[in-house]
Amino acid sequence: MLMVSAPIVGIPEKAALFEVIDSGWLTMGDRVQAFEEAFANLHGAEDCVAVSSCTAALHLILDALGIGPGDEVLVPALTFVATANAVLYVNATPVFVDIESLDVPLMSIADAEARCTPRTKAVILVHFAGYLPDRDAWQQFAARHGLLLIEDAAHAPGLKEVGTYGAAAAFSFYGNKNMTTAEGGAVIARDRALRDRIRLARGHGMSSGTHQRLNSRTPTYDVTVLGFNYRLDELRAAIGIVQLRGLLGWNEIRHILVMQYRRLIAQHCPAVKVPFSDPRLSAYHIMPILLPEAAQRQDVIDRLRSQGIQTTIHYPPVHEMTLYRERFPGTHLPKTEAFSRRELTIPLHPEVTTKAVEGVVTALADAVGVSQMGMAK
Ligand SMILES: *Cc1c(COP(=O)(O)O)cnc(C)c1O
Repeated sequence: MLMVSAPIVGIPEKAALFEVIDSGWLTMGDRVQAFEEAFANLHGAEDCVAVSSCTAALHLILDALGIGPGDEVLVPALTFVATANAVLYVNATPVFVDIESLDVPLMSIADAEARCTPRTKAVILVHFAGYLPDRDAWQQFAARHGLLLIEDAAHAPGLKEVGTYGAAAAFSFYGNKNMTTAEGGAVIARDRALRDRIRLARGHGMSSGTHQRLNSRTPTYDVTVLGFNYRLDELRAAIGIVQLRGLLGWNEIRHILVMQYRRLIAQHCPAVKVPFSDPRLSAYHIMPILLPEAAQRQDVIDRLRSQGIQTTIHYPPVHEMTLYRERFPGTHLPKTEAFSRRELTIPLHPEVTTKAVEGVVTALADAVGVSQMGMAK
C-alpha cells in the first residue's frame, strides 16, 4: 500500500535509542536539551521548549499567555481538532473562521475581522498542508485588534519564517508529520519570559528538574504555578536529533514531488484542482486535491485503495464534530464546508518515488473518469 504519509526511521534512530538506554538516564536530560538547541537553531530561534505533543504545546502557550474564561480565540475549522480543543482546555471559547477560498484554504482575514468581538484575545493560525499564511497581513490584523498571534505549526517544521508570526508557535513530531519522535512537540516563543513560563509549566511548575538537582547542590524545589506533565523523554529527543538532520532534505523532496503532482494533474486530470495555485512558502506536509463537484468521493477513494493507494481527508471540519456542534450550534462556514466535502489527500512523503506519483495520477484520472480526456502517454 502506498501510504499518505510514512515515517522515515531506521538504523540511526535505533542506534540513538540504544545509546539512551545504555546511558541510564531516560528523561529530561542532555538529549532533550541538545534537541531543543538543534530545533531552535534550525528555525533561527534562540531557544525552544520540547514537549510531549503539539497539543500540549498549544495548551501551554494559551495557558502561559493567560487566556482563559470569557476570552475568545479565533481558529480555523479546517484543522485537526487539537487546535480548537486547546482553547477549551483553558476554558476559553474557540470562534471558528472560514477559509479564504477553495484555492487558498487558509483562514480568511476578512472573515476573522467579521468574527472579532471585544472578547477576542488571540488567533491561532494553522499552516494548512504546510503553506504559510501572509505574515504581514496577519500581524497588521492582530495589531489592529490588539490580539495575540499563535501558530499551530504542526504542518510546517523547518521554515525559518515559522515561529516569527507572533507570540509563539507549536510544533508536532507525531508519526505522520514531516519529522517524528513518535510522539512529541515543541514551542518556539521569541519572548524569553513567555518561554520561561512555558518551560516551568511543562514540568509541574517545579522550580528545578531532577537533572538540575542532580547536578547542583539544591536538594529541594518549589512549585510556583499550576503546571502539567508535558515533558519529552530522552528516547524521543534522541530520535528527534537524528530526524532533524533529515528534515530540510525531506522537505525539499516533498517540494519536488508536489511540483511533479501539480504538473501531471494539470496535464492528465484537469478537472481535479490542486489548492495553492500561486507560489507560497511551504513545508509541503500533505498533498490536498479537490475533486470535481460531481465526483463521488467515496468511489474515488475505493478505486484508489483497490490499486494500493491510500488516501485521507484533511479535514472533516471541526465545527461539524458532535462535540463542537453541540457546544456551538449554528456555526456555518460555507467555504470550509465546500472544501472539506471535495478534498482528498493523496500520498506525499520522502519515500514516494516519481514513478509512484505517475501511478497515483494515472489511477486518479481513471477514478474520476477523465482518463478519456488524455492520459495517452
Ligand atoms: C497533528 C496536528 C496536531 C496535533 O499534534 P500532536 O503532536 O499529535 O498533539 C495539531 N494541529 C495540527 C494542525 C496537526 O496536524
